[in-house]
Amino acid sequence: MRRRNQPPAAAIVVRDRDNVAMNVYHVPLRHHVEITFTMNGGDDGKATQLTKGLPYVVVHARPEDPSHWRVMARPRGASGKTSSQGKAHVLLQGAGKYRIYINEPTEQFLPRSTFSIQQHALADGRNSGRDVQPLVELDVVEAADLSLSVRTTHPNGLLRTRGVEADSIAADGPVRQLTNLQEANSKEVKPLDLGRHLISFQAWADASRTYGSEHPLIEASDYREQLRIIYGESLTTNSRPGADLNDRILEHGDKRIEFNHQSTTGGRGRLSFREDNGHAGNRMTADESLRRTHPAAMDFLLRMMHDLDISNIRSTGAWRPHFGSVLHRYASALDITEATATVVSSDEQRHEVTIRFHRTKSSNSHPLQIAATETPARVRMREFSCSLHSYLAQGQANGRLGWLGGPWELSYAQLGIHDAESPDKISIRTDNTHIHHIHISLGDTQP
Ligand SMILES: [Zn+2]
Repeated sequence: MRRRNQPPAAAIVVRDRDNVAMNVYHVPLRHHVEITFTMNGGDDGKATQLTKGLPYVVVHARPEDPSHWRVMARPRGASGKTSSQGKAHVLLQGAGKYRIYINEPTEQFLPRSTFSIQQHALADGRNSGRDVQPLVELDVVEAADLSLSVRTTHPNGLLRTRGVEADSIAADGPVRQLTNLQEANSKEVKPLDLGRHLISFQAWADASRTYGSEHPLIEASDYREQLRIIYGESLTTNSRPGADLNDRILEHGDKRIEFNHQSTTGGRGRLSFREDNGHAGNRMTADESLRRTHPAAMDFLLRMMHDLDISNIRSTGAWRPHFGSVLHRYASALDITEATATVVSSDEQRHEVTIRFHRTKSSNSHPLQIAATETPARVRMREFSCSLHSYLAQGQANGRLGWLGGPWELSYAQLGIHDAESPDKISIRTDNTHIHHIHISLGDTQP
């Protein structure tokens, strides 16, 4: 029986031997396939890791309408993020092309809605004509006997070499038959395993959207002027002695952010989305690399600077395709190493306070530890650090922020956040990679 709201399958009218018309329904079967995304990382950029927790969206175009992409529903139990095993799950509904795109932060897609393929933006905000690439495409072909086969491929819209070279994207996979064991309607579905698929550094770069200065979030932001400087590629170089040529500085009013050259190292190693960006080897510039970080992450940083009267921030990590957690490749993360604020003491004196997020080299920047001999300068550092860490924990409790890491492990209760679901829960985590910076990432449910 047909369920309500479900359209009938398309009927083909055939006539039997007595010339009686019969409606023959070809009900497309739904098949369940899974693919395991891996990525290179580790300290040498070579160790292969599973791509865990990456939000993705699956879209489909039918053979008869190849440029009309629709969002696919998820198989039952699939979360929309790659699993702890790096697996993405896809429901196939007949022939055509299926693409898995990174589900950008703040974007939500309804099943069956039309999906517009985004383009990498030019610095002036216009579309470049160069499409954001999927992580992979699945080509499903129906044979004359109506059996289906599937193969992993890639539209290669930016004309990369295919294979295992540093600038290449993965080659096509073998053709595999779909069988009734993978039918999503059957009782015991055994998804067809398409095996491992490496998202190369270049594939990450091509699949990560380059945001432009006319993004709606920038238009709507209280910090649009500052964001337009970042996304309009109008940052300046670092005039401080000994500074790296690839440092980028935002200066706006009394606010300054240093995007240290380390925050764009991985991006600058990759090819630009542009066919010719005028730079040696067509490698990405520091400015293009910074535009891969989502505007909501930059907006958060600017808001925090405003709310806490922070005049200077140093950032050493943003979007990057080559190492560390998936959150950096996902464009939702920023690493910061130090912050300077101006505070007014009870005698109305103004003091510049700088804290460094380093477990061993700046223990005075610990937000809670009271030293044996306290000095006014030390107290100011501790209080500023406490307000900054609390601000982040509050952002996490509100859902605006997601995973947080830093040199010191801190619970909600320790930071005075009592409206969190469980106050004793750790808000800011620590490990050996976070000994020298705070990692900020956006939450899953951005407004
Ligand atoms: Zn980080």
